[in-house]
Amino acid sequence: MNKNARKEKPKFDREVCIACTMCVNICPTGALDLEIRNSTHGFRRYPVLTDAKKCIGCNACEQDCPSGAILMVPAT
Ligand code: SF4
Ligand code: SF4
Repeated sequence: MNKNARKEKPKFDREVCIACTMCVNICPTGALDLEIRNSTHGFRRYPVLTDAKKCIGCNACEQDCPSGAILMVPAT
């Protein structure tokens, strides 16, 4: 876990996301889930941060995303 743990959380860009589900599968805390959402690509099962309290800011989802659709932003 990096020193920024808990200070950042993932923000998803659905226009870039290819809905591969990798981030959901790799998250060590189960903070992410898939939900049907719309984008210019149509309705898909996109990742969402369903429980921000579970996110430890480890960056694993951002680092493993194949399309660069995740940006870590300061937690609010
Ligand atoms: S930063 Fe880590 S804990 Fe938070 S959603 Fe991504 S993989 Fe899960
Ligand atoms: S890993 Fe990236 S491309 Fe795959 S579902 Fe997550 S955000 Fe989308």
